[in-house]
Amino acid sequence: MVVFSAAVFGAIAGSFLNALLFRYNTGRSVLRGRSGCMHCGHTLGVLDLVPVLSYLLLRGRCRYCSSRISVQYPAVEVMVGSIAVFLALNTPDLPSFFFWLLVWIILLFVLVYDLRHKIIPLSCSALLAALGLLHVYLGGFQLVDAAGVLLSVPLLFVSLISRGQWMGWGDGMLEAGLGLLLGLTAGLTAFMLAFWSGAVVGIVLLCLPRGYTMKSEVPFAPFLIFGAACAYFLHVDLFYTLPTLFF
Ligand SMILES: [Zn+2]
Repeated sequence: MVVFSAAVFGAIAGSFLNALLFRYNTGRSVLRGRSGCMHCGHTLGVLDLVPVLSYLLLRGRCRYCSSRISVQYPAVEVMVGSIAVFLALNTPDLPSFFFWLLVWIILLFVLVYDLRHKIIPLSCSALLAALGLLHVYLGGFQLVDAAGVLLSVPLLFVSLISRGQWMGWGDGMLEAGLGLLLGLTAGLTAFMLAFWSGAVVGIVLLCLPRGYTMKSEVPFAPFLIFGAACAYFLHVDLFYTLPTLFF
């Protein structure tokens, strides 16, 4: 029952996240205005707006003009639903469930937004940093948690010496919040996973005959978030686990 409620709640939260993703910075309010088809503009009814199920029943097409519906809709809904289920099973109480759900919804927003627009909204990084500070404060201000913020220093340094050319300022800002939320050891693991996965994908892109060059802008936030997801959901923490094996 807990799992089912969490899945439904997560999927609904995911469908609001979709609305936010398509309306952010377009001047349209998320709360006001009914959702319409992106193609024909037809106002969508209740039956068109059921998370995941509507997409499956309509076979990914608009009921009115039968143009394709972006796969982002069900994908984001399934992701947030799965995250909610994981959190329901792994967080000790309701406040921490909502805390981490909010964190991951913001991170998912940054991930999709950075892939689409190659920019990380500063408001998201600021909100994550604030949540990170709250997390450190509620955890009794452990030095090893607070020190996670230092992980943003190398990224900000690269932005500083290249004047934002090699790496946008947004990545360092994002990492400040991630470091605080994960703490120093898990944060460092996430950081290394981000670089390794980023390097692998970067090399693959360079080898593809699609004209990617060293100058092509590849958003880095998705890799930072991928690393953070590995550290958080799979409990990968090299610098915490390894020493305990030896001492
Ligand atoms: Zn339509």
